[in-house]
Amino acid sequence: MNGQEKPTSPRSWLDTPEEELAQALRALGQPAYRLKQVQHWVYRQGVLDFAQMSDLPQELRAALAERFVVAPLRVVRTLASADGWTTKYLLELPGGVSPGRKRPLPPATVETVLMRYDPTDSQRGRWTACLSSQAGCAVGCPFCATGQVGFFRQLTAGEIVGQLLVLNAALRARGERVTNVVLMGQGEPLLNVAAVWQAIERIHDPAGLAIGARHITISTVGIVPAIEELAERQTPVRLAVSLHAPNDELRTQLVPINRRYPLAQLLAACQRFSARTGRRVTFEYALIAGVNDSVALARELVRRIAPIPCHVNLIPVNPTPGSHFQRPAPDQVRAFQAVLHTARIPTTVRVERGIDIFAGCGQLRAEEVSTRQAVAAGR
Ligand code: SAH
Ligand code: SF4
Repeated sequence: MNGQEKPTSPRSWLDTPEEELAQALRALGQPAYRLKQVQHWVYRQGVLDFAQMSDLPQELRAALAERFVVAPLRVVRTLASADGWTTKYLLELPGGVSPGRKRPLPPATVETVLMRYDPTDSQRGRWTACLSSQAGCAVGCPFCATGQVGFFRQLTAGEIVGQLLVLNAALRARGERVTNVVLMGQGEPLLNVAAVWQAIERIHDPAGLAIGARHITISTVGIVPAIEELAERQTPVRLAVSLHAPNDELRTQLVPINRRYPLAQLLAACQRFSARTGRRVTFEYALIAGVNDSVALARELVRRIAPIPCHVNLIPVNPTPGSHFQRPAPDQVRAFQAVLHTARIPTTVRVERGIDIFAGCGQLRAEEVSTRQAVAAGR
């Protein structure tokens, strides 16, 4: 093995372009097929430690481990819900020097959730990964724990795909893998499009994770130009739009970015997306007691979305420590749903799993931060 200069700190394998990986292997005197071999371990076998890649020569494994870290994430904490349906992972991203970036990335923490169902269409018996696209979020929806924390930084494509690989590594012992992906964790995916498109290609690529476009969903607060771009992309993933209100006045209170992309524009983009891709759009609607859960608002919602091929996902809001929002009584949820049913709009009420582990968006991280602050303050 001839000597290439060793870098001072290992680089993220996932964030290094393929040509550079191939070049690094060549510099280590390796044949061209090695790259495929390593990628197979990473993407197909869920192995994130070069030492375990048993068909590579020992000294190559050591040389790779000196130069690269496969997934730039560390599991800080996991929390399994009592019902066994959901496990939350709090992950630390060490940051550091990243290819194509002028400044080193600061460390950050994000959360990733592994669920035994698909929250967008209630399919059972699948493993769904709920991935974060940003550390924090700048949009500031008042009912959302991530929104309350604010924006910290963009994730790289490797940090997004790496979350999924951490889950696959955990499922490896059972001989299973993630089958569905939702970008519904922390952050607004369509405000980090470069990394998100790249991550989706890798998740979809037959030589990558090989997950079908129908099994990948982006949840967005409604960034209209990015929805237009998504409709034109080669990988037509599913689109979920966080609506939460049927008129601009109320929606601006719940989703402040509605000022920039008001409902008429957003719904027109959804209609075009559906026409272009032939897919239904999922509308997410967090039901908040006394705020957006009246039958009159349900009727207004029907009037606005009826022309769009869609599916509505009602989510009784998860109360967060920083807000007074409460979930409606079950009767109110049923009354709201009944209006949509009567209008023949397919509607599901999201079955809440893992409430005991803070399964709401961003809540594990918010809880961790407040625990750390309490520890720091000597409480
Ligand atoms: N930023 C994107 C994706 C992440 S949030 C978006 O907003 O769509 C994923 C979903 O969780 C969104 O539909 C969001 O509105 C919802 N959500 C956030 N906080 C919630 C809470 N406290 N209760 C219920 N749903 C919540
Ligand atoms: Fe950001 Fe989505 Fe939370 Fe709104 S709901 S603050 S867009 S993560």
